[in-house]
Amino acid sequence: MSRFWSPFVKGLVPYVPGEQPKLSKLTKLNTNENPYGPSPKVLEVIKAEANDALRLYPDPNSDVLKSAIADYHGVSVSQVFVGNGSDEVLAHIFHGLFQHGKPLLFPDITYSFYPVYCGLYQIPFEAIPLDEAFQIRIEEYRGLNGGIIFPNPNAPTGCFLALSEIERLLVVNNETVVVIDEAYVDFGGESAISLVNRFPNLLVTQTLSKSRSLAGLRVGFAIGHPDLIEALERIKNSFNSYPLDRLAQLGAAASFADQAYFEQTCAAVINEREAMAARLSALDFQVLPSAANFLFCRHRVRDAAELAAGLREDGVIVRHFKMPRIEQYLRITVGKPEESEILFSSLERILAET
Ligand code: PMP
Repeated sequence: MSRFWSPFVKGLVPYVPGEQPKLSKLTKLNTNENPYGPSPKVLEVIKAEANDALRLYPDPNSDVLKSAIADYHGVSVSQVFVGNGSDEVLAHIFHGLFQHGKPLLFPDITYSFYPVYCGLYQIPFEAIPLDEAFQIRIEEYRGLNGGIIFPNPNAPTGCFLALSEIERLLVVNNETVVVIDEAYVDFGGESAISLVNRFPNLLVTQTLSKSRSLAGLRVGFAIGHPDLIEALERIKNSFNSYPLDRLAQLGAAASFADQAYFEQTCAAVINEREAMAARLSALDFQVLPSAANFLFCRHRVRDAAELAAGLREDGVIVRHFKMPRIEQYLRITVGKPEESEILFSSLERILAET
């Protein structure tokens, strides 16, 4: 801290420093990474490219990747924007596409970066409480606003909203940009990409970090009307924000060409999620229905902070949000079956203690 820091900078809290520990031999079920690793075809392409080509600058427009995304999702290239992870895509959307004079609407409990971006770009916001079942109530997202954003499935709850509900929202809100953040959609959600040609104010963001297991490559994208996409390109280019690097562009494009691997690994995660949910319920946890690669749950008797600390002693890391209303919940990423064995033997040990 220094006297040169503005009150805004003094108030910033670095992103959960403990969530990416450097220790190995941990069962890391805290940041929703995919346990299966990327498609072997992605690795082949990256290895082939990691040669003399690295001397050369990347394509600033990511044309090959944009075409792969456009073909995969049945849209035109002019409807696709790519960024360094969907976090960067979201940052540009907050910066340039939400109206800064009116409150942005998003749920109160949702992805923790939304209020952070509002702070960075000085956007007023109104966080609308989820209902008692942790569901988003669409009828509350209307009236004067500077834009609307929520993840579907929501994070950290994992709850999923039907596409018909999103359509209902778009019908009554056509003056401001509506963003559906589909970071987890491939684990059981229904994508709103099918609606972008009907609603010119809709932007759908997705990431390759979860279902395509490329969190380390940092690739995300937005799909929407070409006018919205052009705005994002202008924002990105106006301050020379970084293009995706060569490995990211080619590796990400290759992942769209291996549909069998994608389907097989998503199915394995979904199967394991359901098995974990059943085992957690049997241990007296209340588990929210999840359409994501994590489970949000609370023990009916035991304290969440103590459970998280006990798991950490056994080298198992899960996410505990110390926030009002959800302080008794844990968010547990779905791992491989062998990771679940470690998780459950630790939980059983802790729960056996009085
Ligand atoms: N949106 C949501 C809801 C997320 O949970 C995450 C990942 N933590 C992101 C966006 C950003 O993902 P990435 O930057 O890895 O694409």
